[in-house]
Amino acid sequence: MTRRTLLAALVSAGSLTIAVAAQPPAAPRATLPDAEKVKDNLYVIFGSSPADRSQFTGGNTGVFVTDTGVVIVDTKLANYGADIIAKVKKVTDKPITTIINTHTHGDHTGSNEGFPATVDIVAHENTKANMMKMDAFKGDKAQFLPKRTYKDKLTLGSGKNRIDLYYFGPGHTSGDTFVVYPALRVLQTGDMFAWKDAPLYDRNNGGSGVQHPKTMAKLLAAIKDVDIVVPGHSPTMALKDVQEYQRYTAELLAQTEAAMKAGKTADEAGSSIDLTSKFPGYKNERVKAAVAAIYDELKK
Ligand SMILES: [Zn+2]
Repeated sequence: MTRRTLLAALVSAGSLTIAVAAQPPAAPRATLPDAEKVKDNLYVIFGSSPADRSQFTGGNTGVFVTDTGVVIVDTKLANYGADIIAKVKKVTDKPITTIINTHTHGDHTGSNEGFPATVDIVAHENTKANMMKMDAFKGDKAQFLPKRTYKDKLTLGSGKNRIDLYYFGPGHTSGDTFVVYPALRVLQTGDMFAWKDAPLYDRNNGGSGVQHPKTMAKLLAAIKDVDIVVPGHSPTMALKDVQEYQRYTAELLAQTEAAMKAGKTADEAGSSIDLTSKFPGYKNERVKAAVAAIYDELKK
């Protein structure tokens, strides 16, 4: 490229940027990976890291192929409905019959509207209440709210087609569902276990860093027959990683309570708490926000 054409390219690239910026936000640019087989009839369309917003597609999406149809667990950010449907078509001809939303957030419910209105949508009753507050589900879009809710446990299908939905209490939000595929010994955690870093506690949607360790302990006491775990925003892991995460959340709470007792501000506590040496492989990028949320909760 000569100097002149390079300059011309830069100028046009510059004006293109301005033209694009003037438009309303475009459909997402990041593309989805193919559905990856986790075990037998269960696939996951993995999400991407929320750290790079331009490449962010949302949380992990479960694709469970039953004899009668496909169950989708979490629908990623808005505008990914057609992409998810296309990825499902690559692994099965069966129709998508059911969506499960593990919780209210837009990176797990955003593309509900991209599926036919006849698809059954299932979530915990608190998640439905949280979703009803979202602009994305107001007016015409209310048809993409959960049609079926539950309180403690709900079973869908039977035998190798069975899915158990469990609610053990608040944590990330007030309405997080754990999805168990018993025949496959797989657990999908949603954002109750999203990554190896501090959790996001969404106080506006009833999230609780005080309850989270207890909720995770209830899960671990009840659900033992699991070999593979599908976290909210990470590659697959094992049950021991969930056990470790429970200890992590308990330690984070204990250290936050101790810092508060010692008279530290939320900011000072957030800067001083670092669990990475005790929990190898963990990041420390979300601790400050989690500590602030726990302070907010303890003060009330
Ligand atoms: Zn979330």
